[in-house]
Amino acid sequence: MLRRNLLLPISAFGMIALAALVPVLAQAPPAQGSKAAAPAKRIAIRAGHLIDVKGAKVLDNVLILIDGDKITSVTPGGSVPAGVETIDLSKSTVLPGFIDLHTHVLLNGDITAEDYDKQLLKESIPYRAILGARNARIALDRGFTAIRDLETEGAMYADVDVKQAIANGEVPGPRMQVATRAMTPTGMYPLLGYSWELKVPTGVQYVDGADGARNAVREQVMYGADWIKYYSDRKYHFESDGVLHSMVNFTDEEAKAIVDEAHRLGKKVAAHAIGSDGIAAALRAGVDTIEHGDGLTESLMDEMARKGTVWVPTVMVGEYVAPGRGGNWPRMVEAEKLAFQKALKRGVKIAFGTDVGGSDWREIGQAREFQYYVDYGMSPMEAIQTATSLASEVLGWSDKLGTVESGKWADIVAVSGDPLKDITELQRVTFVMKAGVVCRKEAASQ
Ligand SMILES: [Zn+2]
Repeated sequence: MLRRNLLLPISAFGMIALAALVPVLAQAPPAQGSKAAAPAKRIAIRAGHLIDVKGAKVLDNVLILIDGDKITSVTPGGSVPAGVETIDLSKSTVLPGFIDLHTHVLLNGDITAEDYDKQLLKESIPYRAILGARNARIALDRGFTAIRDLETEGAMYADVDVKQAIANGEVPGPRMQVATRAMTPTGMYPLLGYSWELKVPTGVQYVDGADGARNAVREQVMYGADWIKYYSDRKYHFESDGVLHSMVNFTDEEAKAIVDEAHRLGKKVAAHAIGSDGIAAALRAGVDTIEHGDGLTESLMDEMARKGTVWVPTVMVGEYVAPGRGGNWPRMVEAEKLAFQKALKRGVKIAFGTDVGGSDWREIGQAREFQYYVDYGMSPMEAIQTATSLASEVLGWSDKLGTVESGKWADIVAVSGDPLKDITELQRVTFVMKAGVVCRKEAASQ
């Protein structure tokens, strides 16, 4: 989530009924154990237009052949082999499935501290995991066929369970990489402010000292973490230099121990870093991705461009929580917009992430994030690349995901209009396929 600081309650946000968002699952994925028995199904998709994210161009009238869970060929024109089922998307624009690099399936909105504390104190982890499965389905339904879920907010290792249930075909959802519990030093993340006589849950794992850091990384990896996430900073504030500063959580020795141990075990590290001081500390530690990054300065951007560190800006959540939180938050959104425009010019790799879960899953579709990137200066094609080809690199899955090409997993979405002319088309996905299985198909995609 995006760490709160001062907050007033809000109840004005309307809720869209979940039923309106969730169409029929055309085919449930096979249950575990039945995969080997079924012969690989062959499907052809006739695409009116295909966004070639690698070549940054549009191909017209393309035939995509799918065998089981993989794409086997993508050819202009082409004819459908005899006996192969054809899905007609000849009036649609087809794209690779989207990837959201910053989600929280175990969280359901936390504008205020009260929103957050209530979930940790009044909802059991099994209940939260059930909502997590619901949220995963919402993501898939919106065309997000892969997500990086960046910590459970007190729900321990339940993200591993949601991921596993999806992978086993028990419930529908995107492919997941998960960060499990995240880390801060003792006392630097909620729940805070309760009587010392009460033992309350914490939203992260408290970790102290370099040895403690290495131990925590090992423990999280043992229980299924694909990524390690830590909170680099808190207490965001503007100083007289006009820069958004922050208080750094870990000592350099501790942060470096986290990153070194994670890398030694073959895992990458995401750092929540909002203020310039937190971003600088995370870059000194050698993290792989900077989350939020509102306080990026030009010199920090240059350091990121040089090191190849990826920025995941999560604009959507900032816009969502700022009005309710007040204080510095509206100015932080403005600061991030300016940083985004500069970072684009300075060659920082910007990849797609929304922090959904910080916002209520049922309210805003994650594809809203595309619109911010275009409003902030990206071309629609660049914005699409942040959630496809570039995001697949961040996940280490660029050989499997992120483009519609022979050999890739058959994760494919479609919209009825032209997203290069109107990026909001991506908020109206009409067709979703994951691993060769149709998960959503509306009449508009015929
Ligand atoms: Zn987050």
